[in-house]
Amino acid sequence: MKRDYKKWVSGLIQGKVLFDAPMRQFTSIKVGGPAECLLFPKDVDELKKLIRFVRRKKIPFLILGKGSNLIVRDKGVRGWIINLTQGIKKITLDGEVVEAEAGLPLQRLVQFSIRKGLTGLEPFSGIPGTVGGGLAMNAGAWGAELKDVLLSMTFMKEGGEIVERPRSRLRFSYRGLALPPSWIILKGRFRLKKGKKEEILERVKSYSEMRKRRQPLDYPSAGSVFKNPKEGPAGKWIEEVGLKGFRVGQAMVSHRHANFIVNLGKAKAEEVIFLMEFIEKKIYEEKGISLEREVRVVGEP
Ligand SMILES: Cc1cc2nc3c(=O)[nH]c(=O)nc-3n(C[C@H](O)[C@H](O)[C@H](O)COP(=O)(O)OP(=O)(O)OC[C@H]3O[C@@H](n4cnc5c(N)ncnc54)[C@H](O)[C@@H]3O)c2cc1C
Repeated sequence: MKRDYKKWVSGLIQGKVLFDAPMRQFTSIKVGGPAECLLFPKDVDELKKLIRFVRRKKIPFLILGKGSNLIVRDKGVRGWIINLTQGIKKITLDGEVVEAEAGLPLQRLVQFSIRKGLTGLEPFSGIPGTVGGGLAMNAGAWGAELKDVLLSMTFMKEGGEIVERPRSRLRFSYRGLALPPSWIILKGRFRLKKGKKEEILERVKSYSEMRKRRQPLDYPSAGSVFKNPKEGPAGKWIEEVGLKGFRVGQAMVSHRHANFIVNLGKAKAEEVIFLMEFIEKKIYEEKGISLEREVRVVGEP
């Protein structure tokens, strides 16, 4: 199978292609086995070629942003992983409307808006994902969600056709966006407002400081593991059942923020997943609350 991929891929795109790519190098929590084939299309046309190809050959595929909300299992991922961060990352400005491609780091979008004196994206400073990953997850912080400043999104459908949808036709939820399977986010258009640069910077600074105080940024993690249930913040419940600092191998519930699992160095995905399941069980047994995962787990069981 793998040899076939090599043959198929040669000549298909000019962008980089890696075989048996260790996914711990492409995820923020730094766990996970190899991806059979990791491809970096150089532009939207190459992406279209790939999408048509995987459809024809029935190859399973996954879009990867910065891997900051992703846990890849130790046995790795079969099929193709397509990463947009190298070739699909343009940013343009039209008045107060910014258009950003999916592979652009969200932080580059925030920095761009600061430079242009545009306000609206400050709460998202410090979120380590891409624009595409942020939209797919409806990323948010400090009471704001990315959808709040969104005007429209552009997608590539499974056959390679490109469609734009206004926000009113998109079904966002808390940390989610319901999309037809295999639609790829290509870009988002965001409506910002003119503001005073010093005030924008001041807000960004204060959000960054809060983030540094509250999040364990000195260890690899995948951000918040669970969504906050209606009963209150997930971290509060995890702390209440006494799991701060609880370890499975090299995976540990952070002392600083109980909804973060940190990798102490050489954690395996298996340890992170075991710890997540342990937390879910304990919170259910002791508090009667079913936690829902925010992080996504992919790969061979
Ligand atoms: C230290 C730390 C702090 C964090 N803080 C926050 C926070 O404050 N708020 C918050 O909401 N999140 C936070 N996160 C989580 C994470 O950064 C966000 O969810 C981010 O938006 C994920 O983007 P990504 O590019 O890394 O996506 P990935 O992890 O690469 O992918 C996430 C999901 O989106 C899908 N996806 C990615 N790109 C596309 C695309 N172009 N088209 C279709 N599907 C796509 C992937 O297939 C996957 O299912 C934090 C994470 C860390 C490590």
